[in-house]
Amino acid sequence: MKNNTSKSETKLDTKLAHAGRDPANFHGFVNPPVVHASTVLYPDSQTLVTGSQKYSYARRGNPTTDSLEDALKEIEGAAGVKLANSGLNAISLAILSCVKAGDHILIADTAYGPTRHFADTVLPGLNVAVEYYDPSLGAGIKSLYKPNTTAVFTEAPGSLTFEMMDVPAVAATAHEIGATVLMDNTWASPLYCQPLSFGVDLSIQAGTKYIVGHSDVMLGTIAASEKAWDNLHKLHGAMGSHVAPDDVYLGLRGLRTLSVRLERHEKNTAFVLNWLKDQPAVGALRYPALESDPGYEIWKRDFSGASGLCGFDFTKGTTEAQAHAFLDALTLFGLGYSWGGFESLAIPVRLKGMRSATPIDPDLHAIRLHIGLEDPEDLIKDLEQSLDKAFK
Ligand SMILES: *Cc1c(COP(=O)(O)O)cnc(C)c1O
Repeated sequence: MKNNTSKSETKLDTKLAHAGRDPANFHGFVNPPVVHASTVLYPDSQTLVTGSQKYSYARRGNPTTDSLEDALKEIEGAAGVKLANSGLNAISLAILSCVKAGDHILIADTAYGPTRHFADTVLPGLNVAVEYYDPSLGAGIKSLYKPNTTAVFTEAPGSLTFEMMDVPAVAATAHEIGATVLMDNTWASPLYCQPLSFGVDLSIQAGTKYIVGHSDVMLGTIAASEKAWDNLHKLHGAMGSHVAPDDVYLGLRGLRTLSVRLERHEKNTAFVLNWLKDQPAVGALRYPALESDPGYEIWKRDFSGASGLCGFDFTKGTTEAQAHAFLDALTLFGLGYSWGGFESLAIPVRLKGMRSATPIDPDLHAIRLHIGLEDPEDLIKDLEQSLDKAFK
């Protein structure tokens, strides 16, 4: 029962199964208990006033939150991990931990829409200047640095449009000026991309997506480098963020099967895209794991796998009515935003107000798909009958 293998020597799949568990501490039970708590009692006043007890107040953590944080710390190779109420909450907390009044933050133009909303509505009021950059700049982002640039926010591939960016090159230039580098790594999950290994300081996950994996919990995670951990830990404590233990437990449960689920998402996605590419109504595919994709080389270098989130453009001349007819005819694909569960989803890509530093085609009619764990032949049949109806 005892695990004598040094934890750092194990591979990621092994970590997914073992990290953050300590059965010997919980009477041998495989999983940690779900600790419902607010009050923590102290044995005596001396312990209370010196704060020498491991747990002091449930808002700051309990054995259930520790279990998920410890597991992710090991998987991400982090100095520390904090949980958040949602992916967006992880993003806002991570950003607030590394900017102060008078600072300048650079954010990838392809960042998740609500990240922009947070940056545009909250940061200016705190006197933090927000500037969006074209993610294709790579190391060229240097030309945008100002004396007060303290944070660079990255995301790969980009939300909705799936452009890859050279995060390691951006991180190297950011470190030259002492800026903190953040990455929204939700698409690949910490299994297929390890941002801290190539210079990212704050690696962010919408745990809602693949970590939870079952479309039933909102959760965020932030893994910090040595340099960024202290500030993150302090900010997180000061903000009073806390995730309910049942939700944390479901995150932990999802994490154990992340690898087998992602493997199937990736396989099904390759199968579906291989069919989609030959359909007359379908234009460009958007998925960095395809050799034909402009981001393929960077994806191959920085990622060890691809997930089930992808997109495609309709051919030029497709009308909005046709795009909607396609979506409305789908029966297995649900129409919904929050992806990462076991089921397939589709949404129309709407970029209005979402890009300010990169050119976009205002007439673009594109679809974002999440390819789930269904039999991919059934998914193709569903796509085929919907395309037939919309383009008859
Ligand atoms: C969904 C998503 C988020 C936000 O996660 P929530 O848990 O829904 O708040 C952040 N970033 C990306 C890339 C996402 O897809």
